Amino acid sequence: MVSGHTSLEAYRRVVIKIGSALLVDRSQGLKKQWLDAMCADIAALKRAGVDVLVVSSGAIALGRSVLSVPAGALKLEESQAAAAVGQIALARAWSEGLAGHAFVAGQILLTLGDTEERRRYLNARATIDQLLRLGAIPIINENDTVATSEIRYGDNDRLAARVATMVGADMLILLSDIDGLYTAPPHLDPNAEFLPQVPAITPEIEAMAGGAASELSRGGMRTKIDAGKIATGAGCAMIIASGKVEHPLRAVDNGARFSWFAPSASPVTARKTWIAGHLQPAGKISVDQGAEVALGSGKSLLPAGVTAVVGAFSRGDTVAILDVNGREIARGLAAYDADEARRIAGKKSGDIEAILGYAGRAAMIHRDDLVMSRARATA
Ligand code: GLU
Repeated sequence: MVSGHTSLEAYRRVVIKIGSALLVDRSQGLKKQWLDAMCADIAALKRAGVDVLVVSSGAIALGRSVLSVPAGALKLEESQAAAAVGQIALARAWSEGLAGHAFVAGQILLTLGDTEERRRYLNARATIDQLLRLGAIPIINENDTVATSEIRYGDNDRLAARVATMVGADMLILLSDIDGLYTAPPHLDPNAEFLPQVPAITPEIEAMAGGAASELSRGGMRTKIDAGKIATGAGCAMIIASGKVEHPLRAVDNGARFSWFAPSASPVTARKTWIAGHLQPAGKISVDQGAEVALGSGKSLLPAGVTAVVGAFSRGDTVAILDVNGREIARGLAAYDADEARRIAGKKSGDIEAILGYAGRAAMIHRDDLVMSRARATA
């Protein structure tokens, strides 16, 4: 597939994620000149009629620099405190930078729960929509001062992808110190090849990004590929480009190298996008081969095809559906609590009433609440 990218002005709604290292210098603090150039690029896009949202990292890094916290890993409460100081400075820098181009910035701080819980998700979406309608530029970050290790994104790549799908963006740009995806980490492997276009995020592409997300790879290529899965599955294209130049958006339009990820041709509905993008499914349901085939052809998941139920989820929670090899093939909203699901697993739908003592739903996950995992579908 040939890159569909012509000019950023061709997009309707663009989310730009900016990594900490671009904005903050360990010894000198905020990189004001770079930020001013970035604001000029954003203003140019806005004037061309594009809605722009910024997901800006840098709160913790900036707070460290203001508080003169020495180098080295931070404890959770140290990074929370650093973020409290840094976020004020960060928001002010964006506000002033954009004001220089006659645009207004609005700060939005999100926690994981704001995107994982449907009601809070819709609430956050409404606020962001309203900001855009009023012509302001949302400046978004994770609310790092209250995020704890179990309930945080930790990286702004996936947060930006969730925001992009939440607002129906058609382009997500990840700006960091790497200019795109390589077949192997370029600093470790001299034969690593650059990939200008990624038509689909297959298991091979995922393998190029390295193993599962870990403390070390946080914010690395792994989270960028995860972000790509969330965004492209919802019909939003993604670009990974270097932000190490001044005017990085202008550079993208003027032929700088970047990796372009094609949006899915058949994006799922907004509600299914929300289900698919969950970062922490509350449980796992294993299914047999017959059920896997049925799901693939768009059917609901019936209890009869369920072989195992793991986790302590409640009715309405998102669960991952695994095939006989333990690979995730779909996600959906459970129609039963975990203990009920365990009791009716492997049983016929007609027996549910006798087992549970009430007539529940025939399906364990209804097809309207179910979305296939894209990487498998395109593998
Ligand atoms: N939210 C973090 C911060 O503003 C950054 C997370 C990331 O680097 O992806 O400091």
